[in-house]
Amino acid sequence: MVAVSREVPAPADLGTDLIALPEGTPLRLDVQLESVMEGVYVTGTVHGRATGQCGRCLVEFEQDVVVDLQELYAYPGKRPDSVDDDEMPELEGDRLDLEPALRDAVVPALPFQPVCRDDCQGLCSECGARLADDPGHHHDVVDPRWSALQGLASDGGGAHEDRREPTGSRTDAQEEN
Ligand SMILES: [Zn+2]
Ligand SMILES: [Zn+2]
Repeated sequence: MVAVSREVPAPADLGTDLIALPEGTPLRLDVQLESVMEGVYVTGTVHGRATGQCGRCLVEFEQDVVVDLQELYAYPGKRPDSVDDDEMPELEGDRLDLEPALRDAVVPALPFQPVCRDDCQGLCSECGARLADDPGHHHDVVDPRWSALQGLASDGGGAHEDRREPTGSRTDAQEEN
């Protein structure tokens, strides 16, 4: 058994539209290569860093990705006819192409609905502020039906006072005469 540790740049499109390991960012591979009858059995882990967009608050965030990898690479010509290339890739001479195995391991391990943190509260439905930045954030929400009545009440009160004042002063003047 041979252990190999290597840092490689992430290939393009390693992820989804919402979360991915950006192309060229470092991936650390720690793998063991084991010679078996049909070929070489590769097991190990991949460490990388994904960039995603939170589905609740839309902020961009990064998260560590650690996934297990395992793939059996057949010796050239040794792969059973019933098994296709996706299931058991062939060794290319003494080289093996880890990219398909890497992709198969990493992409399904990424969250389907990424969030910046599990308890992300998302955005304020009133003003769109990001609630995680402002934990005490709230609005004194008035039921829209009551707010309409409040508007009527204050308009009516104002109009009423304007009318009463001139009436009062006219009465005073008449009493003085
Ligand atoms: Zn969030
Ligand atoms: Zn708000």
